Amino acid sequence: MTDMPYSIIGGGLMGAALAYHLASAGKKVLLIDDERVGRASGWNPGGVNPLHGPGFPGVMQDFYMDAFNQHLMHHGIIKDLSGIDFHHKVVERIFLANNKVELIALEKSLDFYNQLPNFSASIMDMNELSNFDDRISPNFEGALFTKGNMRLDSERFRLALLSSSRKLGAEILTGTLQEVFTRNKIVTAILVNGLKVSVSGLCMAKGAWENHPVDGWHPGYDLSIRPVIGDLLLVQSLGDPLKADISHGIKAVYQHDDHHYWIGGTRRESGILGPCTLSTKQELLRSVRDFLPGWKSFRVIGHSSAARPVSENELPVMGRAPSYDNGWVINGGGSKGVLLCLTMGRILTDLMMNKDVPTNLEKFSPRTLLRA
Ligand SMILES: Cc1cc2nc3c(=O)[nH]c(=O)nc-3n(C[C@H](O)[C@H](O)[C@H](O)COP(=O)(O)OP(=O)(O)OC[C@H]3O[C@@H](n4cnc5c(N)ncnc54)[C@H](O)[C@@H]3O)c2cc1C
Repeated sequence: MTDMPYSIIGGGLMGAALAYHLASAGKKVLLIDDERVGRASGWNPGGVNPLHGPGFPGVMQDFYMDAFNQHLMHHGIIKDLSGIDFHHKVVERIFLANNKVELIALEKSLDFYNQLPNFSASIMDMNELSNFDDRISPNFEGALFTKGNMRLDSERFRLALLSSSRKLGAEILTGTLQEVFTRNKIVTAILVNGLKVSVSGLCMAKGAWENHPVDGWHPGYDLSIRPVIGDLLLVQSLGDPLKADISHGIKAVYQHDDHHYWIGGTRRESGILGPCTLSTKQELLRSVRDFLPGWKSFRVIGHSSAARPVSENELPVMGRAPSYDNGWVINGGGSKGVLLCLTMGRILTDLMMNKDVPTNLEKFSPRTLLRA
């Protein structure tokens, strides 16, 4: 049994980060992924931002900070191991406010930024905003200007995690999980591409496809992970670069690299994954024109609608499946999976190795899955 691999189903950021941590802990790993269209990890702006998101301020506050620190700790190692530069970088961001109510809401973030080392924030009035970048619409009330969050190229980061895992001995296969074989609460083998492979354990990291049934897998939980679709355009800027990421509500422009930007975002409960529809593209372009009317010289070079895997309470999910001694799940990254993947992968590795993990994490797991 000990010579058999821990199998991970799903090579998005969650599965890839788990593979990296398990392989770093000296475990034999087999990761299976079937490269579904619309996976979240490939098409997203790669924000590593611990001071916004579901449960912040509140239950997720410390967890987000721990997640951010895991990035600081592991980026150099992952880059060196994989040889892949995923362009991680500290960014500045402007959060626009349409009116006084929105501005007061943004002001509440000031203390969170200013009390952290390497983070800062201030409020800008319209004069300061137009001096900063006169392409921003003059019709706003003001803005929150922040420094300290990070951004990375999410797809390159995913590939770097997979490559690092491989260098540490993990095997990565393209294929679909077809069946799970169990005996007396133990997962003994999986069927992939028609091949039966004996395993030491199994972790589902299937993102928005978590609820798709697999023969033989009856985990004893109902996670209700739902796909919340986010649409993004990738554009090439032909003029002067923008001086910061700029957003109004969930609509935003994020820098991708020196010449490319993401235009997002949306939250749709249904729709088609893959290339954006024409009307979605038009909606995104309209929204950017509303807050950045002076930014005109760019052209769309790519677009995608991808599925955020969102749990019922919008919080992450990780732990042992109640029906099995060696069956696990890692999911619920929602809109924060880039930030969360390394810390979730580390915690789940500790759980799988029967190491102690902080007990206060149990509240993040729907149906107390963590120690099921
Ligand atoms: C538009 C958008 C913007 C976002 N922005 C940010 C951001 O700025 N910051 C942030 O922190 N997070 C962000 N996120 C969230 C983040 O991208 C996700 O939470 C994270 O990528 C989820 O990773 P995952 O591995 O759980 O899922 P996915 O990336 O969807 O991966 C799941 C994988 O499982 C595989 N799979 C499924 N079923 C099977 C099967 N039966 N057999 C084999 N393989 C299977 C699929 O092929 C897929 O590769 C954003 C998401 C979107 C969509």
